This record gives sequence, structure tokens and C-alpha cells, in this order.
Amino acid sequence: MQNLLDFDAQQLTAWFAEQGEKPFRARQVLRWIYKAGESDFDAMSDLAISLREKLKQIACVKAPTVMREETATDGTRKWLLDVGTGNAVETVYIPEEDRGTLCVSTQAGCALDCAFCSTGKQGFNRNLSTAEIIGQVWWANHELGKNAEGNWPVTNVVLMGMGEPLLNFDSTVSALRLMLDDNAYGLSRRRVTVSTSGVVPAMDRLRDECPVALAISLHAPNDELRNVLVPINQKYPLQELMAACRRYLEKAPRDFVTFEYVMLAGVNDREQDARELIRLVRDVPCKFNLIPFNPFPQAPYQRSDMETVKRFRDILMQADIVTTIRKVRGDDIAAACGQLAGQVQDKTKRTHRVVEASQ
Ligand code: SAH
Ligand code: SF4
Repeated sequence: MQNLLDFDAQQLTAWFAEQGEKPFRARQVLRWIYKAGESDFDAMSDLAISLREKLKQIACVKAPTVMREETATDGTRKWLLDVGTGNAVETVYIPEEDRGTLCVSTQAGCALDCAFCSTGKQGFNRNLSTAEIIGQVWWANHELGKNAEGNWPVTNVVLMGMGEPLLNFDSTVSALRLMLDDNAYGLSRRRVTVSTSGVVPAMDRLRDECPVALAISLHAPNDELRNVLVPINQKYPLQELMAACRRYLEKAPRDFVTFEYVMLAGVNDREQDARELIRLVRDVPCKFNLIPFNPFPQAPYQRSDMETVKRFRDILMQADIVTTIRKVRGDDIAAACGQLAGQVQDKTKRTHRVVEASQ
């Protein structure tokens, strides 16, 4: 069975051609799946009955199955989705007055092992397929239902769930294309954000192949500290990362990148860190988003107190850098940034090491 959620528009058209079908059939099916939220071929009423029968034999529209669902006191919803062989990933829906943001996972676990991240501590199992990535959006829209105006509730997508999207490039880009495609969700490029820990070559590819809004997990003002907090920095150090941001902005839908900066008490939250940051990002049009650290079991860090976070923000603002403090959402159901753990059958044996180290 071919899961049609695995194809972006171009791939679906190619697959239809292989079945001897015209391109406009692919477009019709795409609209049924994403605009109508339909998974039953029998309901696709403008397709010839013979085509519907054929599709029923060889294809399906199947989002990952939900294992658990939780709703936080602030309305944030979290779904644990089964992606097979003992792995599960998490998707979080964050309702706000003027939009609905879905935080989507791209890998079961993550191999990059950032020191403050609960997903990283889980180890890595595998990349998610396109169907598993776009299936999270499909599922959330399906579950929440269209609003009174007939629009889907998910208006913004951030690839900030489990995993490093740019290390699962092809599936991520196909899923992004479906978010943007007018025959699918038709979201504007500015409403779709990829967050990366800084995989420099893949940032260039994303810029060329599918530019969307970009967020960078910065977290440290110098290489010495970033090498510890975000180990991929050892491969792509800060000056290379800053240069990649500037190149990205040449083609980006927004004229700034967002730097995410998790505030860790006594580690990266001092005034001198803020001043060093200002020098670091001098040539990169940017905004800052300060994220109060979200603790998880055995986390080696503590959250900076609010006063410190505000002082840090004020220093950046005085240097004319727009800086926001991320509201903590959904932390009573462990749905806040960096708390997503899902269920990962670690293939890198990292879980082992972490367990040993904590004994
Ligand atoms: N791998 C990508 C996207 C997923 S992480 C990346 O690293 O950008 C999404 C965001 O949550 C990143 O900015 C990450 O640094 C941040 N994050 C991770 N652990 C966190 C924690 N414990 N508290 C707050 N933010 C965290
Ligand atoms: Fe992976 Fe991002 Fe977590 Fe780092 S912060 S371990 S890159 S998910």
C-alpha cells in the first residue's frame, strides 16, 4: 500500500503518471486530502469510480496513530503518535487568539545531544517519513476540526518538536512543500518555521530549495560555551553559522532570522554574555527569543530567574535587537520546549550512557 501522505505535489503527480493517470487527478486528490481532510477514497466524489476503486486497492491516506492525548490547563494539546517499532513522537498544538501553532517533530529522538535537551537525552532511532511529518499536521487539523469560517485551526507550523529537521532533509522539505502548496495547506512561507541547531550546509540547501522562516538554536555567545551546550558547534562554529545566516537571508521570506536562546542559570545568562552576543550577531539582521529553560528529569541545569531574563532582554533591546521572552506553554503536561521525549528506541546507546552516568 502506498501512503499518499508520503508525496508532495510533484511526487504525487509522478506517481499518478506511473499509474497512467493525468496530472490534474493528482491535484484533485491533493485537494481532497489536505483541503477537505479526507482519507476515504470513496468520498472523493469528483474522481471516476474506476479510479477510486483502483486507489483503494493500491493506496491509502494514513497519519500516524495516536497513543495518548493530553490537554494542558492553558489549552495546549499534546499528542503522542505511534511511528512503529516501539517509537513514538510528540506533536503540540498551541492555540493563541489570532493563530494556532503546531509544533512538529521530524525525527524519533535526536542524535545531536545538546546538553539541555530532553529529546537529545533520549538518543536517536530514525528519521520520520514525509507521511509521518505532514501526518502530524493532517492529524491535528482533523482532530481539532475546521473553525466557524471553514478554516483549519493550524495556521502556523514550527519544526521545533523532536529531532533536527535539517538532518532529515528530504522528508522535511517534501512536508514543507505540502504545507506551502496551494492545493494542500497553502500556508505562507512566513508562517512556517524551521528551527535548526546550525547544520550549515543544509541551511544553504534549504535556502535554495525551499526557503521558509528560520530559527537558529544559538544558546551561547562564544564557541567555547556553545561547543558544550550544542555539540554540533564543534563542526560548524559560530562564525560559519553567522555567515550561513547572512546567506540564508538573501532568499528568505523574512528579513531576519530568529535566534533562540535558552536561559540557563549561571551558565549563559550573565550581562557579559548578552554583551558578547551583541557583538557576535552584529552583521546578522535578527530577533532574539529568550526561552526560560524547561526542566526535565535529571536535567543538569536550572532556569534563570525572571529578573535575570528581563535584564538580559533589556541589554539586547538597548542594542536595538528586538527580543521577546517565550511564554511557557503546556508545561504541566511536559509539552514545553525541550520537554518532548516521546518514546525512542535508542540506536546510539546514548540512553545507556546517561543512565549509567546518573547512577
Ligand atoms: N533540533 C532543532 C529543533 C528542535 S528543538 C533545534 O535544536 O533547533 C526546539 C527548540 O527548543 C530549540 O531552540 C531547543 O534549543 C529548545 N530547547 C531544547 N531543550 C530545551 C529546554 N529544556 N528548555 C527550553 N528550550 C529547550
Ligand atoms: Fe536535537 Fe534540537 Fe534537542 Fe539539540 S536541541 S538535541 S538539535 S532536538
